[in-house]
Amino acid sequence: MTKTELLRNVNAAIDKRASEIIGLGETIRRHPELGFKEFKTARLVEDTMRSIGLAPKGGLAITGVRADAAGRAGDGPTFALLGELDGLVVAGHPEGDPTTGAAHACGHNAQVAALLGAAMGLLDAQALDALSGRLVFFAVPAEEYGDIEWRVAQARSGKLEFLGGKPELLRLGHFDDVDLAMMIHLTSRPEDGKTGVPASNNGCLVKTIRYVGRASHAGGAPHLGVNALYAAQIGLAAVNAIRETFRDEDTIRVHPIITHGGSQVNVIPAEVRLETYVRGRTVDAILDAQKKVDRAFKAGALALGARVEIETLPGYMPMTCDATMARHHEANAARLVGAEHYRQIGHRTGSTDMGDLSMVMPILHPYVGGAVGSGHGADFKIVDLQLAYVMNAKALAAMAVDMLADGAAGARDVLKTAKPPMTREQYLTFQRGLARRETFEG
Ligand SMILES: [Zn+2]
Ligand SMILES: [Zn+2]
Repeated sequence: MTKTELLRNVNAAIDKRASEIIGLGETIRRHPELGFKEFKTARLVEDTMRSIGLAPKGGLAITGVRADAAGRAGDGPTFALLGELDGLVVAGHPEGDPTTGAAHACGHNAQVAALLGAAMGLLDAQALDALSGRLVFFAVPAEEYGDIEWRVAQARSGKLEFLGGKPELLRLGHFDDVDLAMMIHLTSRPEDGKTGVPASNNGCLVKTIRYVGRASHAGGAPHLGVNALYAAQIGLAAVNAIRETFRDEDTIRVHPIITHGGSQVNVIPAEVRLETYVRGRTVDAILDAQKKVDRAFKAGALALGARVEIETLPGYMPMTCDATMARHHEANAARLVGAEHYRQIGHRTGSTDMGDLSMVMPILHPYVGGAVGSGHGADFKIVDLQLAYVMNAKALAAMAVDMLADGAAGARDVLKTAKPPMTREQYLTFQRGLARRETFEG
């Protein structure tokens, strides 16, 4: 069978399952869960994988699910297709879970549906007969880096080390036997076309900031207190003042939130907690910006005579997409949605833990349309079910064929030219080296 025939058969198999794939995506959308807590979604993934003849292994980095399928045409590299399981809390989202607030406000539900759809198409069409090497279908937890206090508590009790899904899976060795990987994220930006590949994405560091003051009677004895909230306000104002020192080309993003602002209104706040990311295009830019951010937060403590504790947590590495894989996706996009709807997307200022994988192996992280509204907004909505779920599945499956057909020539070609900047050990050492706790007495 030629590659073209194989692709045609896989696409036909996906079309046959289209309503099932859409149904999976919509079911997951209606049952959003937060990172490392995606138990229902993981169960649905496991059950679906089993129903199509895969043998999934669950509970990886708490909720990850991985199923391997060996090609029957010979040895070769291992190519992983990924889908992210988690949602995130977006205030006012109409489909937010009433208990947790979780919502699928950037379309991870479509990633999982597409991952399962790609597996269905490849298995139904018996594509493995013509593929060499191995495919891994991997539903991964916790891409959204939030819910930080809970995750830090998990880390303190030994259940996690890194607070994002892919870094944790890397640490645990679940990517040790994977040579290259791909996932497709949804986009609601019209300028991204129906599908496109970004040149790069920002990386980030994550910080928790705790101001400690002294409680006192807010009416009777405010002079005896040290107001941690005012210290935090000055810290936030100082962060805003340093923004003009960031170079445009470093695409720094600092966006703190207050997670605890005081105990009750008639008490001078003795404890205020904040969280922030420090994002940037390069590791050097992030490290430079975070020094300024730390200094700004200390200014608040100094002004009020409060104490500030700054904990720096490893975040996500900047992401670079593999150029060879990007060319394959572009060709597939031309076939699936028309060349006029493909976009080469420049640098994006969000962050993803696909960046961490990109440090150690060639990866591809295209975007697919079909959504409207604002990513991470209450109005984010999937409106083109065919594009978001079904075409998405076809694009993943097409890359599996591209990489592993013809004796895995495609994957071998990628691996020959790709130069990931770090070994897995170097990556883990680097991330661990970022973790820091600092206390400043103002
Ligand atoms: Zn997101
Ligand atoms: Zn996302």
